Amino acid sequence: MRVPLIDLSAQYQTIRTEVDNAIAEVLASCQFILGPNVEMLEREISAYLGVKHAVGVGSGTDALLLVLKAYGIGPGDEVIVPAYTFFATVEAVMLVGATPVLVDVEENTCCLKVHEVVSKITACTKAVIPVHLYGYPANMGKLMDVARSHKLKVIEDNAQAFGAEWSGRKTGGIGDVGCLSFFPSKNLGGYGDGGMLVTDDEYVCQRVRMLRTHGWKKKYFPEVPGHNSRLDELQAAVLRVKLRYVDEWNERRRVLAQQYQERLSPLGVITPRECLGGKHVYHLYVIRVEGRDRVIGRLRADGIGSGVYYPLPLHLTEACRGLGYQEGSFPVAEQLCRDSLAIPLFPEMTADQVQQVVAALGDALGEGR
Ligand SMILES: *Cc1c(COP(=O)(O)O)cnc(C)c1O
Repeated sequence: MRVPLIDLSAQYQTIRTEVDNAIAEVLASCQFILGPNVEMLEREISAYLGVKHAVGVGSGTDALLLVLKAYGIGPGDEVIVPAYTFFATVEAVMLVGATPVLVDVEENTCCLKVHEVVSKITACTKAVIPVHLYGYPANMGKLMDVARSHKLKVIEDNAQAFGAEWSGRKTGGIGDVGCLSFFPSKNLGGYGDGGMLVTDDEYVCQRVRMLRTHGWKKKYFPEVPGHNSRLDELQAAVLRVKLRYVDEWNERRRVLAQQYQERLSPLGVITPRECLGGKHVYHLYVIRVEGRDRVIGRLRADGIGSGVYYPLPLHLTEACRGLGYQEGSFPVAEQLCRDSLAIPLFPEMTADQVQQVVAALGDALGEGR
């Protein structure tokens, strides 16, 4: 592949010595679970996001799951989530036995429609989970107003948006709780699974600290059945190195996105835009094309990687069949699943690689006309 969708090895080369040293230190210390690196990373990330507490957990999915449990959300409760997101957002709600209530997304931001959230609130609604999809924030101004007036918890799924901002505030630190994922391909990604939740709420923090280690505060004295879901000390050591670079990497993503925008707009391609209030960190650069399968094949033939996020809206998945939605329930989500295409974007990408992608895309789209 001449231009892969993402190139983690190019990034590793730029930080190799620091990462290798950090890993070697953990190996020498032999402290692998909940050691100094996890503690320091929790402090560094809470400072970065402007929140009081952070708790490292096993994955972004677990962060969502444990927060829902900490709030005591379960059977009989409803949680509002977008129909267009990675399955984990909805999965976590299902796993605690609550009912996910889906809403459609806005065509220009791919984030949940706040006015549709309002129309889905019932006496059973306990929380709403906005997803800052592809690195662009949901409308947190409007959403927080709605949530406050209906006494709903706002749990931000910030898995794709580390470093993004809404009205000058870092996403993840705006709602009641923010959930982060350190899956390797995320903007701040480890070399394995990992996640974190951030909050100003002391109770949620203490509760999740207990839940991540078998439901005990004092070892071997469990208070409730918990989980074994901790951020690994090795991952934390790697992430502390990467955290020092993440702003620089996000800025580079924005520069590359700008280059794409300038070259793709004249070709008539619908490109992602920053709307009023939000700062995009381009976890994925997702354009919209007609005849997507043909375009993917043509790009592949030219050695250009691409990806579909996501091929099926959640309401039409097997797992969500029981929720009672059907085709047509969320038209925007369905349309996005038909024509969205992620093209290569990673901080180490060169201007020459951008040009190769644009040229290949130009050919592919030209042929289709
Ligand atoms: C990656 C991701 C998650 C889950 O994170 P994991 O660390 O892989 O469990 C949740 N929500 C969204 C939107 C994601 O992109």
